[in-house]
Amino acid sequence: MKKIEHIGIAVKDLKVSNTCFSSLFGKPPYKTETVESEGVRTSFFEVGPHKVELLEGLSAESPITKFIASKGEGIHHIAFAVDDLAAEVQRLKEEGFVVLNEQPRKGADNKWVVFLHPKSTNGVLVELCQDAE
Ligand code: ZN
Repeated sequence: MKKIEHIGIAVKDLKVSNTCFSSLFGKPPYKTETVESEGVRTSFFEVGPHKVELLEGLSAESPITKFIASKGEGIHHIAFAVDDLAAEVQRLKEEGFVVLNEQPRKGADNKWVVFLHPKSTNGVLVELCQDAE
């Protein structure tokens, strides 16, 4: 793994939280994006070499809405950049990690993403991401 790519934060109201985090960082998000396939609306802030992603669920069935219902707003996942997603998934499977989607999905911010189940990573939802061409 190369670096922490971003930290994902689950929020109830993206508009309200965009205002809050714009004040916190002293600048607005560099993009907002709806990812229908993941059931989320997102915004991204640049913070030095890293990013912060805010995620709002699009419906009651969204994983983000369910997360907030059970745990409240807060840190949802940590994303790590990798060069070769397929090789990294293979390596982590051999190490015993539980991969949630072996077939990479198109995530926000032009990335291919794979998630690891929090039960194999001390309760932390881990996202692996590789830049899409
Ligand atoms: Zn993410």
